[in-house]
Amino acid sequence: MSGAKYDYLIVGGGITGTVLALQLCENGNSIKIYNREDEYSASNVAAGIINPVTGQRFVKSWMFDELLSTASGFYKHYDQLWGTSFFKYTPIHRALFSKNELNNFENRQGDPHYDKYFDYELRHPESKHFRGAEDWCSIQGARLDIAGFIQRAKKYLLENGCFFVNGLLDYTQLNVDTDQIQYNSDTFEKMVCCEGIGILKNPLFNHLPMVPAKGECLILEIPSISTTEIYKHKVFFVPLEQEHLFWVGANYDWDFEDAQPTPKGYEWLLQKVQDSLQVPFNVKQHIAAIRPTGKDRRPYLGRHPEHADVFLFNALGTKGSSLAPYWADQMIGFMEEGKELMGEVDLTRFTRA
Ligand SMILES: Cc1cc2nc3c(=O)[nH]c(=O)nc-3n(C[C@H](O)[C@H](O)[C@H](O)COP(=O)(O)OP(=O)(O)OC[C@H]3O[C@@H](n4cnc5c(N)ncnc54)[C@H](O)[C@@H]3O)c2cc1C
Repeated sequence: MSGAKYDYLIVGGGITGTVLALQLCENGNSIKIYNREDEYSASNVAAGIINPVTGQRFVKSWMFDELLSTASGFYKHYDQLWGTSFFKYTPIHRALFSKNELNNFENRQGDPHYDKYFDYELRHPESKHFRGAEDWCSIQGARLDIAGFIQRAKKYLLENGCFFVNGLLDYTQLNVDTDQIQYNSDTFEKMVCCEGIGILKNPLFNHLPMVPAKGECLILEIPSISTTEIYKHKVFFVPLEQEHLFWVGANYDWDFEDAQPTPKGYEWLLQKVQDSLQVPFNVKQHIAAIRPTGKDRRPYLGRHPEHADVFLFNALGTKGSSLAPYWADQMIGFMEEGKELMGEVDLTRFTRA
């Protein structure tokens, strides 16, 4: 039986593969996506927080202005098209635990590069449910409901002629040695690997250095707190669609055996919650996933050293929701128009002398 011909084979349908597929589809490409659907993939477990400033010193995240501008435009475009609201600007109310932290915050407020990310109106009504802090501040962040966005995008992609296979791509059946890429009976012009932590089992790219970071989180019901805004005390409290339900986390674990939630992770999270909240709560769920984090904390984009039509788009690490739209755009410029990739993300950085 002769198979079909496609422009692109995409491996992995988390936020990375999904955002890339949407952009390629808008450009008129034919696409087949292999994705082993997994309730506990990084994209499905993530909170989707987009946080402009992090750490005790409130340092702006790498390339944040460009990343947020592209991400907000991209997600809002689809929200408008689909009548959804997966992307939302959201204040992040953060507890400050020392005078030093408060000073750092106040110093940043005077900086014109940071000004637009601070909320000067002091309102964090739900902070009364949290334990004492030196003070609170409000940061202008955003949130993407990543799992919801991916699910809706799949429907849209199917309606627009893309093909999906729910299952693992079997690399032993892939032929990249001929003019066109062949898999089963299909042929493809190009292939892009977007498998998140699945890269460790990808024989074409598993030579690249990854520093996978497992993260565990809790889903909590907090009957006395009703808000649509994010609170950060000892950990993040992110309100979910259902009232009084919160995503709470997460920890970072670089020394783990598998992707399962652990008693140690649970204890750590529970302690943080107890140190944060002074009101009753119920633990509804304990979940975990592995973040695809690269060695230098920068995304991995580029071409396979020996196979000109085989590409990689991975290592979005802890920030998939803000990074995916901007870097998918750069990836397409590279694959379709031969535009150069920024050295910081180009995977040739690992082979340069
Ligand atoms: C606890 C936790 C909290 C997080 N919080 C945030 C946050 O607040 N904000 C934020 O922006 N990011 C957050 N992240 C990070 C975010 O989850 C990642 O950056 C992002 O999800 C990576 O997406 P991905 O598509 O590259 O990988 P994944 O989501 O892992 O998707 C890869 C997909 O490819 C599939 N796959 C793998 N191998 C194959 C194969 N051979 N064939 C077919 N399919 C395959 C997998 O099953 C999976 O569906 C968090 C992560 C964790 C774990």
